[in-house]
Order: sequence, then structure tokens, then C-alpha cells
Amino acid sequence: MKVFHLSVECFPVAKVGGLADVVGALPKYQTKMGIDAKVVMPWYNKPFVNENEFEVVFDGFIHQIHHMYQVLVMKEKHNVLGYELYLVKIPGLLDRDQVYGYFDESQQFIAFQHAVLHWLSAMEIRPDVLHCHDYHTGLVPFMVEYCQDFDFLKGVKTVGTIHNGEYQGTMDWQMSNYMPRFDAWKWGLLDWNGRINPLATMIKCSHEFTAVSQGYMHELFEDAQGLQDLIRQEHRKAHGIINGIDTEVWNPMTDIMLNDHYSRENVEEGKEKNKKWLCEEYGLNPELPLFAFIGRFAGEKGADMLPDIVRRSISETEGALNILILGSGNPQIENTLKQLQEEFHVNFAMDLGYKEALSHKIYAGADFLLMPSRVEPCGLNQMYAMRYGTIPIVRYTGGLKDTVTDISSGGYGLNYTFPGTDDAVHAIKRALYLYDDKEEMQNLRKTIMNLDFSWQKSAENYVNLYRKN
Ligand code: ADP
Repeated sequence: MKVFHLSVECFPVAKVGGLADVVGALPKYQTKMGIDAKVVMPWYNKPFVNENEFEVVFDGFIHQIHHMYQVLVMKEKHNVLGYELYLVKIPGLLDRDQVYGYFDESQQFIAFQHAVLHWLSAMEIRPDVLHCHDYHTGLVPFMVEYCQDFDFLKGVKTVGTIHNGEYQGTMDWQMSNYMPRFDAWKWGLLDWNGRINPLATMIKCSHEFTAVSQGYMHELFEDAQGLQDLIRQEHRKAHGIINGIDTEVWNPMTDIMLNDHYSRENVEEGKEKNKKWLCEEYGLNPELPLFAFIGRFAGEKGADMLPDIVRRSISETEGALNILILGSGNPQIENTLKQLQEEFHVNFAMDLGYKEALSHKIYAGADFLLMPSRVEPCGLNQMYAMRYGTIPIVRYTGGLKDTVTDISSGGYGLNYTFPGTDDAVHAIKRALYLYDDKEEMQNLRKTIMNLDFSWQKSAENYVNLYRKN
């Protein structure tokens, strides 16, 4: 079975968040199951692209309005990721440094989808499945069926995965001019509330669609930023499949980004060494329990609550803990945290930016990981944390519901229900009690390191979906 994953992110080529981790790992596990899985993504000016060897397998062009764009499809020569990787380069559109944030983003994503289908049609490559990840590739299920240029691909099975329903890629109808020619009678499949909505189109036109956890899929039925009615209407095609983690990349025994490796057997000693390094680096006292946050400074992640959580938990416990934050995003949150760092520098440190290696060191060195999320489609951080023996403290939502059971219910993390500072601080205080019970902490660390969050089962669930009639 030939499966093409279409995505704008893939670890380690280009990563902004969890989408990259999923698209980087899932094909690897599917390949092990005997599936011919490939990844197709835009070309970026990133180290991976410059450090690996590529060959041009297609050189053609597409039109957008009156402009002709060259399309180059480049295949990574040695399958270093464990599967075939194809990069689509369109000089002037898909040849940039960053994944997101450009004024012509809608045009870029339309061009990517157009170029992929053009390449496959022109080369008469007919996949069994086109697996579209997030709204950036949400127009593909429509284009395959209703663009006459891609008649060769008509009927190919399409599966869409919603990694984050907050982002839908809506655009004005005038952007339809940038699309490849389509059957105008079908315009309604592109439309949602008077605008083109690629995520809605994916839900309407794909054969099956998934969300990255059961918990999140249930939430989308209630509230999907305006698409809940559509999702309810299409409920027969809807599935929740939890993400896994790449246990080869995320392994505290072999992780190349760690200074000190450890296993379940020497978790106490291993974590202590990693914590010591972190605390020295950030001027924190290693004797105190270390709480960490890693992520985008966005409302979904509850990052706006971080300043209050830091202030209150340090003051109310009279400095009995340390907090380390790694992330970036909303400038207001960044500034407030910077100010707090001056005020609370003894117990609080932060590092601004996207730092992959540092994130691994934090998962290894922290005692607890904070996830005060308002919305969390799946959440990978809590799974990485547990793999590294770090206890997650999570707001009970989306995928966090599916992966973190509270210790009071026989589980291995700390949960709270309301997305507010009061509950978060209360959970932190519960964690401090737990921290004082050395034996319980040790048992818990060993238990969570042993949990199976690998892709095995979820990769199988996707394959079952590909095979579904
Ligand atoms: P998102 O909604 O951001 O995709 P996920 O939990 O699905 O959230 O995935 C987040 C991924 O991004 C994890 O691998 C996490 O470690 C990583 N990450 C987030 N922010 C940073 C950062 N500032 N530096 C390094 N890694 C980060």
C-alpha cells in the first residue's frame, strides 16, 4: 500500500510544533508494518535541506492566475529518515526560511497542494492513500475529485487529520482564482460562512477524517471554532486516533541531546545529574523541586496564565520550588515573564525561543511538567515528560484526558479541571507533597517511564482506516 503524507512540517526537516513530530514519526512506524509510506512537504531553507543529498525527480510548472511558477520535486537520496522524503520547491513561493508567517501564506499553501497533485498526475504516480495533515493540505481531497487536471488521481482515497482545529486557513473567495481549475458547480464544498475554509473542505471531501485523540474529537463535536455542526453532520467519517511518540528519538538512554543518559534502573541518579546541569545553567537551586513549561506562548496552551502561576506558586510556598520556562510567542507574555524573572530570579528562570536540544534536557532534568492548556488536541509534551520520568501536571482537556490519569485515581500524573490559576497553583502544591514522599516519587517515575506511548497501536489504527471501504 502506497501512502503519501502531505504536510508543511516534518521533524527533523522543519518543526514548529507537534505536527512535525507526528509526520516525522508515523511514516517510520508504518514502513515497519510493510506500508510504503512517504512524506511530501515544501522545501525550506533549513539545515536539514542543506546537509543532505537530494535529486530532482520532477521539473515542471503550474499556473496561478497569469503567473507561471516552476515546480521542482526533490527526493532525499538515502532515506535517512527511514522513509522516502520529497520536497517541493517553487522559486518565489516555496523557498523560504520559515514554515509560517508570510503575507502570501494562502497562496503558498494552494501552490503546494496544486504542485503535489500536478507532479503525481504528470508522472502517473497513483497513491493508494493521500493522507492530508491539517488545513494546509485540506484542499487536496477537493482538488483530487473536482479539478479536471488531476483526473488521473480521481477516486484516490483521502484521509485528513486535524492536529489543531483552531487554525482553519480561511480566505476570501477571490483566492479561488489561485486554485487550479475546478468544477464551479462544486464551489459549496469550498465554502463555509462565505469564505473558503480549507479545514471545512477537508472534513467535507475526505473519505475519512481524524483528530489526534478521542478526547479532542469529542470536544470538536461540541466546539470546533464554528465547524462543530459540520463535524456532527459528517460524524460517520470521524475518528479519534491518539498520537504516539517516536521512542527512538525520545529515549533517555540514547538521546543525543542529553549530557547524562539514564534508564528506569538509575532514574533517580540520572535525573539528578540532568537537573544539576539545568540548575547551574539557569542559576537555580538543585535542592528544590523543578517545575517546567515548554511550549508556544498562546492562549490554547494557557501561557497567559504562566505569569500568575509563577508569581503565586513561588510566593504562596515561600520559594519552595523552582520554575523554568522555555518558549516563545505572544510578545506581551514574553515581556511579563521577563519582568518576573528579575523579581523572582532565585526561583524562576526562562529561555526565550525555539530550542530543540534544550527541550530534551528539560524533559530529563525537571521533576514536574506544567501544561495549563485550555485546548490540547493531543499534546506530546506530557508523553515525552513521562518517558523521561517527569510527572505531568495537566489541565483535564483533549488528549491530556486520554493520556494522564490522576494519582488519586490510580494514575501517574496530576490533573485539574478548570483552566484557571487557582486550580493550577493547587495542583502545584499537591505536587510538592508528592515530591516530599521520596519513595512514592521513585515508584511513580519508574511507572511512567514504563508506559507505552509508542506509535505501534495508532499506526495500525491509521492503516485500518486506509483499508476501510
Ligand atoms: P503544539 O500545539 O505546539 O503542536 P504539541 O504538544 O503537539 O503542541 O507539540 C509541541 C512540540 O513542540 C513538542 O515536541 C515540544 O517539545 C516542542 N516545543 C514547543 N515549544 C518549544 C520550544 N520553545 N523549544 C523546543 N521545543 C519546543
